Amino acid sequence: MKQKKCIIIGAGIGGLAAAVRMAAANYEVLVLEKNDTPGGKIQQIQKYGFRFDTGPSLFTLPHLVTDVLNISNTPDHDLFNFRKLHNVCRYFYEDGTIINVPDDPLEFASEIEEKTGEPAKHILKYLKTAQNRYLAAADLFIFNPINSLFKSALRKQPKELQPLLAVNPVRTMHEENRKYFRSPHVIQLFDRYATYNGSSPYQASSMLNMISHLEHNDGAFFPEKGIYSIVEAIYQKALQLGVEFRFRSKVIGLETEKRSIRQVITTSEHLSADIVISDVDVNTFYRNQAQQLRKPRAVRKPALSSSALIFYWGMKSSHPQLDVHNILFSNDYKNEFSAIFEKQQLFNDPTVYIFISSKAVKSDAPEGMENWFVMINVPPTNENGQQVSVSEARSHIINKIKRTLKVDPEKELLFEEKATPITIEERTGSYRGALYGNNSNSLWSAFLRHRNRSREIKNLFFTGGSVHPGGGIPLCLASSEIVKKEIDKLWSQPSKS
Ligand SMILES: Cc1cc2nc3c(=O)[nH]c(=O)nc-3n(C[C@H](O)[C@H](O)[C@H](O)COP(=O)(O)OP(=O)(O)OC[C@H]3O[C@@H](n4cnc5c(N)ncnc54)[C@H](O)[C@@H]3O)c2cc1C
Repeated sequence: MKQKKCIIIGAGIGGLAAAVRMAAANYEVLVLEKNDTPGGKIQQIQKYGFRFDTGPSLFTLPHLVTDVLNISNTPDHDLFNFRKLHNVCRYFYEDGTIINVPDDPLEFASEIEEKTGEPAKHILKYLKTAQNRYLAAADLFIFNPINSLFKSALRKQPKELQPLLAVNPVRTMHEENRKYFRSPHVIQLFDRYATYNGSSPYQASSMLNMISHLEHNDGAFFPEKGIYSIVEAIYQKALQLGVEFRFRSKVIGLETEKRSIRQVITTSEHLSADIVISDVDVNTFYRNQAQQLRKPRAVRKPALSSSALIFYWGMKSSHPQLDVHNILFSNDYKNEFSAIFEKQQLFNDPTVYIFISSKAVKSDAPEGMENWFVMINVPPTNENGQQVSVSEARSHIINKIKRTLKVDPEKELLFEEKATPITIEERTGSYRGALYGNNSNSLWSAFLRHRNRSREIKNLFFTGGSVHPGGGIPLCLASSEIVKKEIDKLWSQPSKS
């Protein structure tokens, strides 16, 4: 049988995983990527003996990566290795409280009781509930197309759905956390999980409180060679399976005829395809690559997720008080989120995230030094393409670090690089620099997320963080699997063995 041709637009993690899945199923796969490296939002900077992962840093559900690497009966165990972090995160509050998150829930619960007075049993009950909800929801909301939600739900026993039916979805994450806990520090710690998909705990549904299950019950992991090695491994796997990559190849349009894409148009060529999978942010895709298609409502009026401002600092000394993942909490979380989502402004007491991969991968910084990735959440650019003031944000960050850690980072800085909403959009095509496409601040967000298959064009599919099931490495990998399932419903090809 003649091989069908599949074009994938974008070599982000979703596009790469889709390329592996399609090539393993014997499609002829061509990936068109406008940049000169694969990975999209997952990139690295190497400078003066330092290495920085520039985008994602928190890594959960590692088996989703190994699942991709093990496709097609040619498992390659040398491509990728990872380990569990014993301490998931270290939280700092300005009143001097420091909370560690050991990977064992019992130890975490007693740490919380010791540091905040919140009874350990409250934590354990909360984490159990989060786990039950996740287990009930994963198959429905993460690993299957959203359009099959009701069919999949009907296949379940009422008992299996009970943890979800027990949630009051109209309640926000914050409201539910306040019902569980007395300690403001603990409420803030669990509210933070809204930021994992660029949302606000004061608006997002309590259903999302299940996110904490992954880190606390399952664990946080770290690749032995850093986050970029996830991209390198999946890219190598794709090459092994015969995928062709054309870098510096920007798609500028599609030629459609009778509900089908006939040609994909780049700045230098017209290419025909039987199937097209877009890994481009959907908000950008409909505006720039597929202007002839009808924009769904969530694209016409997008409620965007937050963006980020990140400084990459080469630091000339090491800081034993810090761990791999560190959070320096704002004293006024409510107003921080209101500034990001309602006022679209910079907040003067931001929550600062410091990620130091050299604590886990020694070769990421010269001996005795550290690579600091310092990030705050900020609004995406406004409709005129303007972003918050980077210099003002920088001084808020430095003040926050001085107040909380009693360290003046400027005295230790060897060099600095940065990423802003504008550069994130330029580099990855994320509409207005939003990290995860649309936010999940509305109760209906999960249902309004763009599907993985076009309603209008028969041979067009979508993967990546801006479509179902959502943003973040694990969900992008899940989206590539759903795309493959959707394509299998149309055609089935004999697979490579
Ligand atoms: C600062 C930051 C921190 C994050 N933290 C985490 C975290 O801790 N944990 C986590 O799991 N996730 C995190 N994420 C989210 C995660 O990185 C993304 O959800 C995921 O990487 C998105 O992958 P994707 O498949 O959607 O493709 P993207 O990474 O969005 O890549 C899309 C690709 O398409 C290419 N492209 C765009 N337009 C065109 C065109 N016209 N022609 C050809 N190519 C095109 C782009 O160049 C890019 O390579 C973070 C993201 C950022 C930016």
